[in-house]
Amino acid sequence: MSAPPVLAERRRDMVEHQLRRRGIADERVLAAMGRVPRELFVADELRDRAYDDSALPIGFGQTISQPYMVALICEQLALHGGERVLDVGTGSGYQAAVLAKLAEEGYSIERIRGLLERARANLLGLKLSNLRLAHGDGNEGLAKAAPFDSIIVAAAAPLVPEGLLRQLAMGGRMILPLKSPGAGRDAQRLSLIERSSRGYVETELDPVRFVPLETGKA
Ligand code: SAH
Repeated sequence: MSAPPVLAERRRDMVEHQLRRRGIADERVLAAMGRVPRELFVADELRDRAYDDSALPIGFGQTISQPYMVALICEQLALHGGERVLDVGTGSGYQAAVLAKLAEEGYSIERIRGLLERARANLLGLKLSNLRLAHGDGNEGLAKAAPFDSIIVAAAAPLVPEGLLRQLAMGGRMILPLKSPGAGRDAQRLSLIERSSRGYVETELDPVRFVPLETGKA
């Protein structure tokens, strides 16, 4: 699908200025971000802002993540191309589309049916045959496709959901925003969870701000 030239140019600028210049170095991630038109994932009236350095509203009180955040999360997963990945919180479908370019098989789960349907429509033109969408509560993961080499969560929880820990493959990596206990009410940290035969190891990454991880379907 060819984007209007001005948007294609803004996408190239986004990759260079918002991503590479700020330290995103994984060439596969940079290439994937350069190939997914972000304007397909926002409402028509926001198309002009599709390459802004920010999150944008997508309806239902939710947001499409800032491009830098999408790239940072993808880079932290250290994908090489043969993996099965789970994306919790489909939202617009943008992060899922980028993941599908980086992994072998992608699954994305969303609790709000209306958003999931919109994401499905957004993704149609990209023809990503290796990406499956599901309606459900991401706290429980997606048992029928588990285990996953990588899991990402686009919404913040106080604790890592048990179901997701179980569905992370041995040697797998999960990235999610966790609410920091004791700190300010809104304080969150992006966290990396690695699973090995000796258990789970958590590493705290950057301070971030995501919408809350809810429970149940809507
Ligand atoms: N990755 C998305 C960002 C979406 S914002 C994008 O690229 O556009 C986070 C999303 O998580 C919202 O759509 C919200 O509805 C969803 N969400 C919150 N709690 C959830 C849960 N328990 N299970 C599945 N999705 C959830």
